[in-house]
Amino acid sequence: MSESQVEEPLSQETFRELWNQLEVPSANVGLENDPTMWSQLEELGIGTMEELNMAGSNPLVYPAFAEHPLPCPSCSQAGQPSDTANTTACTVLSTNEYAGPHEFQLQFQQSSTAKSVTCTYSPDLNKLFCQLAKTCPIQVRVASAPPPGSLLRATAVYKKPEHVAEVVKRCPHHERSSENDGHAPPSHLIRVEANTRARYTEDEDTKRQSVVVPYESPQVGSDSTTILYNFMCNSSCMGGMNRRPILSILTLETPDGQLLGRRCFEVRVCACPGRDRKTEEENFRRQQEGLVAKSGSSTTKRSIQEVSQATGSPTPRKKKVLPDEEVFTLQIHGRKRYELLKKLNEALEIRDLIPPEVIDAYKQQQHKHQVKTAQRKEGTELKKGKKLLVKAEKDSD
Ligand SMILES: [Zn+2]
Repeated sequence: MSESQVEEPLSQETFRELWNQLEVPSANVGLENDPTMWSQLEELGIGTMEELNMAGSNPLVYPAFAEHPLPCPSCSQAGQPSDTANTTACTVLSTNEYAGPHEFQLQFQQSSTAKSVTCTYSPDLNKLFCQLAKTCPIQVRVASAPPPGSLLRATAVYKKPEHVAEVVKRCPHHERSSENDGHAPPSHLIRVEANTRARYTEDEDTKRQSVVVPYESPQVGSDSTTILYNFMCNSSCMGGMNRRPILSILTLETPDGQLLGRRCFEVRVCACPGRDRKTEEENFRRQQEGLVAKSGSSTTKRSIQEVSQATGSPTPRKKKVLPDEEVFTLQIHGRKRYELLKKLNEALEIRDLIPPEVIDAYKQQQHKHQVKTAQRKEGTELKKGKKLLVKAEKDSD
C-alpha cells in the first residue's frame, strides 16, 4: 500500500476501537479472504478492498498486529521463516513498548546537561539528545538469553501522525557529503559504530531503512550489552528530517524475524544536546505544573469567595482541608469526557478547600431558598386555582 492510497493512517487507539468492533475470529490468518470483514471495514469508513489494495499480496498492516509475536500476514506466514519476515515490512511501524519473553530493556548512560556533552538522555522525556555523528552508547539488557542468532534492529520513524508514513532518511546534503565510511549506505540516518557485523537493510516494499546487528550476550561481569549508535543528520536538516521529531525503534528479533521485544525513544540531533535537554525538561515541568494549577487554584479562589460572600461569613483560612499531596496525570481520550472529568476534579478540589461550616451554611441557605421557592410556587398555583375557579363560576353563569 503506497502513501498516496492511505493518506492519513489511523491512530493506534482509533484503529483498535474499530478493530474491536469487527467480528473477526483470528487477526492473523486469511483476513483478505473474509468478505464479512471487508463489508465491515467499508461500513466503518476505513476503505474498500480495492482502496486498501488487499486483493493482491499486500496485507492490511496496522500497529495493532505488531503486538503479536507474529506481527502481520506478510511478516510471518504462520511462523514459517521467510525473507520478508522482519519488522520493517509493516507500513506503519508500531511504537508500542513490548518487553517480550526475555524482558528486553534499554538503558542509557547517565549524563549531565552540561554544555560540552555530545550525547545525553532525558528519562523524563524518554528522549535522547545528541550531536550529529557522535557516539551514542545504548545498553541492551535481557532477563534470559534470546535464541542463538537473534538480532537487534534500529529503525527511525517520524513521531507525528501526519508524517508517520514517510520514511526517515538523511537529507540530500549529508547524503552526498564525504564523511561516508563506505560501509553504511549514505542515505541511512542510523549507523552502528565499530561493528563490522552491522548490516544495513532497506525493505523492498516500504523502503524503510534499518541497521541490524547480531545480539551478543553481555561480557563476563556485565549485565548488559552496549551498542554504539550514530545519528547522521541534524533534526533541523532541510530536505531531511526538517525539524520533524523522530522516534527510534529498537527491536529484538529471532533470526527469522519474529519479534521478541520492542523499545522506543525520541531522538533529537542538534548542536547543543545539553542545553536543549535542559530547556525541554524545564518546559515539560512547567507544563505539568501548569496543568495542576489550571485545574486547581484560579477557579477555586473565585469560587470560595463567591460561596463565602453568599453565606456572609469570612473564610477561616486555617481550617482548610488539604487534599492528598500526591499528583497524578490522567490521559483522557475525547474532549467531552475530558471536560466532564475536569469539572468533576475542580468540584472536588473546591470542596477540599472549603471549610465544613461554610458548606453547612451554604446547604442551609440552599434549603431555605428551596423552601421559599416551593412556597411561592404553591402560592401562585393557589391564586391561579382561585382565578380558574372564579373564571369557571363566571362561565357557568
Ligand atoms: Zn542532514
